[in-house]
Amino acid sequence: GAAPLGSSVISLVNRLQDIFARVGKQSSINLPQVAVVGSQSSGKSSVLEALVGRDFLPRGNDICTRRPLLLQLVQTKRKPDGTEEEYGEFLHLNGKKFYDFSEIRMEIQAETERDAGGNKGVSDKKICLKIFSPNVLDITLVDLPGITKVPVGDQPSDIEARIRTMIMSCIKAPTCVILAVTPANSDLANSDALQMARVADPDGSRTIGVITKLDIMDRGTDAQKLLLGKVIPLQLGYVGVVNRSQEDILKNRSIRDALVAEEEFFRSRPVYNSIADRCGIPQLAKKLNKILAQHIKALLPWLRAHISNALVSFTKELVNYGEITESKAGQGALLLTILSKYCEAFSSVVEGKNKDMPTT
Ligand code: GDP
Ligand code: MG
Repeated sequence: GAAPLGSSVISLVNRLQDIFARVGKQSSINLPQVAVVGSQSSGKSSVLEALVGRDFLPRGNDICTRRPLLLQLVQTKRKPDGTEEEYGEFLHLNGKKFYDFSEIRMEIQAETERDAGGNKGVSDKKICLKIFSPNVLDITLVDLPGITKVPVGDQPSDIEARIRTMIMSCIKAPTCVILAVTPANSDLANSDALQMARVADPDGSRTIGVITKLDIMDRGTDAQKLLLGKVIPLQLGYVGVVNRSQEDILKNRSIRDALVAEEEFFRSRPVYNSIADRCGIPQLAKKLNKILAQHIKALLPWLRAHISNALVSFTKELVNYGEITESKAGQGALLLTILSKYCEAFSSVVEGKNKDMPTT
């Protein structure tokens, strides 16, 4: 289905993010995005993959995500003849199109190794990937390495602190929506995800609790109390999900099948019937899109001010370059033009001239 928010607003943000990533200035502007946090193997990459609806992330019961992955989903139009085209592009490969999603996974693995080595090392250098598809919501997601306690392979002795720092630098941004992932078969009170989310977002205004592995809870237990927020309350609430198990992955079970199985799981268990709005990946996607839309809307004036400031400092920088580095000046001028364009576009959105802007 279409995004409830005029998707032009979100794609504008995605394009801006792109520009700043290219010129390496992204640290100066924190744009809205969604990040997953949690312990290693809690199901973070599985949740992201299910939200995207395609298989392309390295995942498994070992450390797989070793560099942050910035993942921009871009909703494209279905072709008139009904066929759909889905592909990915990496920033570091200058927009080479990947139509085979298993090749995307291989490239993520290869690029991870280029910077973080082959032996379980971790790096905070982002990998930027865009997925174009008619079947996604327009959002930017960040997959992060999970928290581990005991160093393995080439990991330094302070691996836990390093990963925490990396996660914190991402989720502390007031513009980051946090998916705090905790498996249902562990104690919520020990959740690394909720603990970090609480530090980054003390009033819980941008944290969604995600409970994974509902299918492998102890016999006779269920997650109803967790999902209702009766164990640890969370302002934006919880969503419970069932992702593919390691066996499913080894058997190459498709996401589509997994979503059908998830739906069947919740439907066949009476305890979850009364809280159906807190169960399943589709509900998580819905919740996310709604929160993101509100978030971006609230941020527009702030973004506009930031972009104006950036324009001023780029202009100053340009003056400083003088004649010495002509190519840099050329780059700067180009950037300036692009930024002005987006600034204008943003202004019209902020001032409500854009018909896609929500009115409430
Ligand atoms: P990450 O380290 O947090 O990114 O976790 P992954 O997404 O890589 O998943 C770790 C392992 O847990 C994989 O073997 C998944 O198949 C498995 N897993 C994740 N979510 C679920 C779930 O809801 N149910 C079951 N049974 N297994 C899951
Ligand atoms: Mg992962």
